[in-house]
Amino acid sequence: MKTLMIGRLFTALIFMHFLPSLAFSGDFKPVSKIELYKQLYGINSTKECKKNIDCRMLRRHIIRDNKNCQIGPRDVETTDQQINRTKDDQLKISGSMKFLGVYPAKYKYYLYNAQGAGPVLKARVFINNADEFSSNDLSRLRQKLATAAKTWTNGNTYNFKVKFDFDITTNSKEATVSVKLLRGSTRGPYFSKWSLNWSSTTIAHEMGHVMGLDDEYSNHPFGSSVKCKRSSLMCSSYGGRPQMYHYYLIFRRAFCYI
Ligand SMILES: [Zn+2]
Repeated sequence: MKTLMIGRLFTALIFMHFLPSLAFSGDFKPVSKIELYKQLYGINSTKECKKNIDCRMLRRHIIRDNKNCQIGPRDVETTDQQINRTKDDQLKISGSMKFLGVYPAKYKYYLYNAQGAGPVLKARVFINNADEFSSNDLSRLRQKLATAAKTWTNGNTYNFKVKFDFDITTNSKEATVSVKLLRGSTRGPYFSKWSLNWSSTTIAHEMGHVMGLDDEYSNHPFGSSVKCKRSSLMCSSYGGRPQMYHYYLIFRRAFCYI
């Protein structure tokens, strides 16, 4: 009996170990933090990483993510060749990020390979109170989501191609985030309240949260002199752009063994 149980446990462990290969072929191994800094930024120590704003943000994001594996950046570069899921069998990626370093906020998005058009990252917004808005209002929001998706598609400086597809959904099961839409202004949070007046850049920033990225501005409870880069979309939701490490953080999760 005992042998049987140990045998079953062993089988379960083996199955768990090989499960990710159902999504991806190949053998993807995590790298050490230092190796990651080296490959992405040519940096050789944590001390040096903390002095480099991009490296520091990358490090902070990984620490706050429950999927904290560090897959080699060159493996992540093969994303476009590795996604072997169809639209009907899309890969769901979900987890939680310590939003503002504290609140464990959930993220969720899908990956699949569109025949002939390459890999797609899909995220859908469900509006809890959609019946309070006209179809014109909702199509304005859809248009801004499409522009936000283009910001992410065109801003990709990582060495692989992927298309971002953001839209509203009326199917709550398909939703990657469910929110209440307001006519007036709101600062969110992204998983609770959205404003109809947000710009497409602000929506691109909020979709960054939906894809598991944290705010980069200082959020130390006692105030801190840590500044973020105004040109980064997760630092500034008014004029920032996606950064290379954002793509690494989002796509590396598809290779994580958790
Ligand atoms: Zn934010």
